[in-house]
Amino acid sequence: MDNIIDSHVHWLATGEHATHLSLHNLTDPFDVQNLQVFKQHFRGEWIIGVGWDYNRWINPKYPQKEVLDKVFPNNPVAFSSVDGHALWINSQAAKLLQLDLSKCLNKCIVFDKQMELVYKHMPQISDESIHNFLLEGQNVFLKAGFLFIRDMSCSMPQWNQAIKLDKEGLLEIHIDQYFSVDGGQSFSEVLKMAQIAKKDKCKNLTVKGIKVYYDGALGSDGAYLSLPYQNIGKYNWCGRPLMTNQELADIFITSWNSGFDVSVHALGDEATHQIVTTANSLWDNGHLGNVHLEHCEIVRDETINLMRDRPYTCHMQPCHWLSDKAWIDKKVAPELKKYLFPWRKLEQNNIALFFGSDSPIEPSSLGINQKAIFDASKYGIDPPKSELLRFHRI
Ligand SMILES: [Zn+2]
Repeated sequence: MDNIIDSHVHWLATGEHATHLSLHNLTDPFDVQNLQVFKQHFRGEWIIGVGWDYNRWINPKYPQKEVLDKVFPNNPVAFSSVDGHALWINSQAAKLLQLDLSKCLNKCIVFDKQMELVYKHMPQISDESIHNFLLEGQNVFLKAGFLFIRDMSCSMPQWNQAIKLDKEGLLEIHIDQYFSVDGGQSFSEVLKMAQIAKKDKCKNLTVKGIKVYYDGALGSDGAYLSLPYQNIGKYNWCGRPLMTNQELADIFITSWNSGFDVSVHALGDEATHQIVTTANSLWDNGHLGNVHLEHCEIVRDETINLMRDRPYTCHMQPCHWLSDKAWIDKKVAPELKKYLFPWRKLEQNNIALFFGSDSPIEPSSLGINQKAIFDASKYGIDPPKSELLRFHRI
């Protein structure tokens, strides 16, 4: 089992998750008044929580501003959604951040890029906590049977603790490390970090590349689709790209020239299509480098055709099916349904494909991925022909 990988995880967050204020069981925004808030849920004055999902609420709509202000009038609050792509904050938080909430959804929800600003100004986690969370996270993966992980969200403070663990001989798993633009870090800052990290000699850590976001998540209506979301009919909202194709092309070229792979968060069909046309044209013009596509939840057939015989690696999380199936029909246009979770088509077209969990968003588990593929097959999503472990083996 020593070559079995969870191919998409957030290592630090996996360890941190156990101590976070969990919002998974909310059925209504006002349930927050019943939360038990303890010392470990604070970072400085801030109350940090994770895991709410408006899709699962009795009234499936984003929360209103009044709720957090009423329940937490004195502390800044930042509650991130289950997919990590939306943040519910209160007026105290906005005041500290000098953020004008009047332009935000329901005057209390910020998404993707704006979230970076919030994270940048929140008190940082201490080195000691990072150290402990990384060990805690390692335990989660070991228990799930993984000795390899591909970690998508490294920062410099995390890297410093990770090499410390490596030198102390405390790492029992191997980590393929990506430095990501999470946490308010710009691409050029992230590239610099990865370059510095690459010079370190490590036994169990390999600096692989840079991770960027081309779109958001489906659960928070941020994945970039070719047809409008069905649940927000009146706006004709398709999601949108978080960068221009020129910016993406520059990121590819700069990263490749520095010897790094580029991993791109690509959830919606239009996002994947734009990334693929951008990368293909660079390769056609003589540039060399690898592209990893994260999630690939909706990919059109024409896009898969463009991916054939090119250096793409797709990283899917079958387990997302089990969570998303409750609402996916309400969001995605009927014409796009045949493109959902295309693991079989990617396999058929010989496109490199790995499976993972996106832990802590879903539990790191071979069994859950197996169950998800079986379950999806009952909804017309063809299972891969190969056994599950083929997609978890490096
Ligand atoms: Zn992820």
